[in-house]
Amino acid sequence: MVSPDTRVTVLAGGVGAARFLAGLVRVVEPAGVTAVVNVADDVDLFGLRVSPDLDTVTYTLAGVVSPETGWGLVDETWQAMATVERLGGPTWFRLGDRDLGTHLYRTRRLAEGAPLSTVTAEIAGGWGAPCRILPVSDDRIETRVTLTDGREIGFQEYFVRERHAVEVAAVRFAGADDARPAPGVLEAIDDADVVVIAPSNPVVSIGPLLAVAGLHERLAAKRQRVVGVSPLIGGRALKGPADRLLRELGERPDAVGVARRYRDLAATAVIDTVDAPLAAEIEALGVRAVVTDTIMRDPETAGALAARTVEAAVASS
Ligand code: GDP
Ligand code: CA
Repeated sequence: MVSPDTRVTVLAGGVGAARFLAGLVRVVEPAGVTAVVNVADDVDLFGLRVSPDLDTVTYTLAGVVSPETGWGLVDETWQAMATVERLGGPTWFRLGDRDLGTHLYRTRRLAEGAPLSTVTAEIAGGWGAPCRILPVSDDRIETRVTLTDGREIGFQEYFVRERHAVEVAAVRFAGADDARPAPGVLEAIDDADVVVIAPSNPVVSIGPLLAVAGLHERLAAKRQRVVGVSPLIGGRALKGPADRLLRELGERPDAVGVARRYRDLAATAVIDTVDAPLAAEIEALGVRAVVTDTIMRDPETAGALAARTVEAAVASS
């Protein structure tokens, strides 16, 4: 049994992390939960700052996410995009009418000089998210993807416009070297009873978080209480390019590859039942492997995974 007052900090990307968080707040007190969220997917479109992972986490926790996609708002309409299309503007990145209000608000507040962490708290409060949501940094970090043909493109161009169907040679996080952790981020790691690396893309969702000064060191310092949940099940991502990216970067595209990435930071790996045969290889890396069902079909199954994950980290420490 997980004690409801366990304080948990979650390193988060978008959809995979948001589902995990929605389960977590069912099994521990939401007031003790902090999500530290990737900002390297953020993009400026039509003069608006769009923060996809922050918004996915916020909308999911507030119960207003679109159930069809796992991102964007429920009951969305697309009139504004239809107008852009009529006028011949770019429509490869779709912004819904309801969702646009969030981007209008964020952009105006940033222009007024408010830091992203302040604006994020305002947006999370406005939508009614029950736990704390922090961008990993108030500074700009941008994932840049080099393709095997030598071109370098932005993350959303790779992910959305090219539908991640192009071969990647390298990934870098522009700005990460100079980015400082947002206020509260390092404290949220230090003060947590358990830190979870969410089942998010290890390369492009978790990678940028670990590149921010201090994060790697603080996690390594509490390795016994850090647990990573594999987003790869049977060697495949449930959605998105995590498996492809790991393979293209020369790493193993499975739960062993993920555990290897996190081995200095996380003493425990949570892997899916279908990957039970990989447990011995993970243990050989010096990482404890915990085998359970990791497919989050709904908030109940996500809650069960979150409980198992938190228990595993408490037991290992
Ligand atoms: P994005 O930023 O919206 O692409 O989302 P994330 O990086 O947070 O999550 C993408 C990853 O979540 C993919 O690699 C998926 O395999 C993983 N994922 C999504 N749903 C689940 C699930 O139910 N269980 C597990 N274990 N992983 C999941
Ligand atoms: Ca993302």
